[in-house]
Amino acid sequence: MDIRPENSDDEIDDDGQDSAADRPGWVGPPVVTLCGSIRFWPLMVQVAAAETAAGAIVLAPFVIVPPDEQNTECGDAAGRALKVRLDALHRAKIAMSSSVLVVTDDSGYWGESTSAEIAYAQSLGIPVGYRAVGGDPRVVETPLTGIAAGAWHAAEQVHPPRVPGDPEQGLAVCGQGGVTVAAKFGAFDPDRDRDHTCHECAWTVAIRTGTLDAEVDRLSGADGAPTMAAQVARAIVTAQSETGAGHELDHPYTVQLLAAVSAHAPTPLISPECGEGACEHPREQSCPTVALACLACSQLSGGWAGEWEGTCMPECTVPAPCEVLRTLATHYRITGGAR
Ligand SMILES: [Zn+2]
Ligand SMILES: [Zn+2]
Ligand SMILES: [Zn+2]
Repeated sequence: MDIRPENSDDEIDDDGQDSAADRPGWVGPPVVTLCGSIRFWPLMVQVAAAETAAGAIVLAPFVIVPPDEQNTECGDAAGRALKVRLDALHRAKIAMSSSVLVVTDDSGYWGESTSAEIAYAQSLGIPVGYRAVGGDPRVVETPLTGIAAGAWHAAEQVHPPRVPGDPEQGLAVCGQGGVTVAAKFGAFDPDRDRDHTCHECAWTVAIRTGTLDAEVDRLSGADGAPTMAAQVARAIVTAQSETGAGHELDHPYTVQLLAAVSAHAPTPLISPECGEGACEHPREQSCPTVALACLACSQLSGGWAGEWEGTCMPECTVPAPCEVLRTLATHYRITGGAR
């Protein structure tokens, strides 16, 4: 059945919201028809409420035929006939709509009849949107690589995308929400891009997986010499591992302190000439370190600096070890290892 008006082949507006108004005889609000498995009926009611509040006329299926009666082979004749009539009625609703909204939960599931309705709407040129509602996220055992606010995080609670084909969204172990899962990178690996990895996530994963030694070693110098940062981190781990420590090792308190050590750990700086690539040092070797700075305490140039964004401003480059690191070292009675 196709009761769509003759001009249905006309171009549909980008947002799909005004096409109803383009139709002869209809100048009212946009008409949205909900599709989806009837098992998501409570979610459909939620979406219907939201769409109505947003100013749309909402159409939806209202009569439910139990699955066993829908079966064309063993269902009873009356049930089958009703299902056929309801399907035709639902298609009529779709045909008079400005857009179709497929409602599902976080599993992203919909069934065959919904797939057929999506194809029908598309054949009429009616925009199809998708709305995944609520539900429990999938908790992954090994956190995945995720990105949010320019940093890599360890995503562990993962929601399917609102639109099929988009990346999954997750919650990171540090508590950062809205993390986009970078599926191609697989499991979270703090060594993938050290400079842009969330310290809280790196320490949390290290504590959970028993790889704290490796994480502490990353704070050591290139020659493996124990730096002040590595010694402070080791002292924090030792203190929080003792029985009777105020907080457990995996408590956010411990993670916050360890992340502070990482953030304020010394970063080697090279000369401006080296930074510009105007030096004579061979490419395969790294340029010599001219100073150690704390990037967390220093001022890094902003977007105005173009390609130099994120470099230490000479006006405010704080030498390492900075006061934050020294204060922690004093608290944990670290003496030697002044760098
Ligand atoms: Zn994080
Ligand atoms: Zn600092
Ligand atoms: Zn150089």
